[in-house]
Amino acid sequence: MEITDINELVNEFLKLSYHGLRAKDKSFNADFQLDLEPGLPKIAVMPQEISRVLLNLINNAFYAVTEKAKKDVKEYHPLVTVSTRKKGKNIEIAVKDNGNGIPAHLKDKIFQPFFTTKPTGQGTGLGLSLSYDILKAHGGNITVSSQEGLGTVFTIELPQDS
Ligand code: ADP
Ligand code: MG
Repeated sequence: MEITDINELVNEFLKLSYHGLRAKDKSFNADFQLDLEPGLPKIAVMPQEISRVLLNLINNAFYAVTEKAKKDVKEYHPLVTVSTRKKGKNIEIAVKDNGNGIPAHLKDKIFQPFFTTKPTGQGTGLGLSLSYDILKAHGGNITVSSQEGLGTVFTIELPQDS
C-alpha cells in the first residue's frame, strides 16, 4: 500500500491511456472528460492495482461507445467521463459512458470470471472479476448501474482508512 493522491493517479494514468487509445485507432473519436473533486484526502492503496482496474473500466467504456457509434444512432456523441469525489468515509471513482448499456438479465453475470459478450480475441471476461477482487482486497467495492441503450456507470469505492 502507498499513500496516494487519487486525483493525481486518475489524471496521470487516464491521460496516458486515452492518448494510447487514440494513437492505436485512427477512427477513435470518443470524447473524454475528467471531473475531479479538489482537495480529496490521500489514501493508502496499491496504485498499480487501481490503475489496472481503471484501465479495464475505460477500455470497457470506450468499447461500449464505439459499438454504439457503429449503429449510426442520430446525434450521438460518444462520451466517457471519469469523476472522483468524497462520499462519507469513502473516496469514489466513477467511470461513466453513454454507450450500449448492459441488458438487465446480464447484470448479475458481468463480474463472473470469463463472462464476456465480446467476440473471440477481443475480451477475456476477466477484467471485472479481477477488478472486483482488487477492490475487495482494498476493503472497498465496485458496483454498476446501467440502462440498456443509454449507458453505464461503474463506481469504485475506496475506504479512507484501509
Ligand atoms: P471483457 O471486457 O473481456 O469482456 P470484463 O470482465 O471487463 O470482460 O467485462 C465483462 C462484460 O461486461 C463485457 O463483455 C460486457 O458485456 C459487459 N460490460 C462491461 N463494461 C461495460 C460497459 N461499460 N458497457 C456495456 N457493457 C459492459
Ligand atoms: Mg474488460
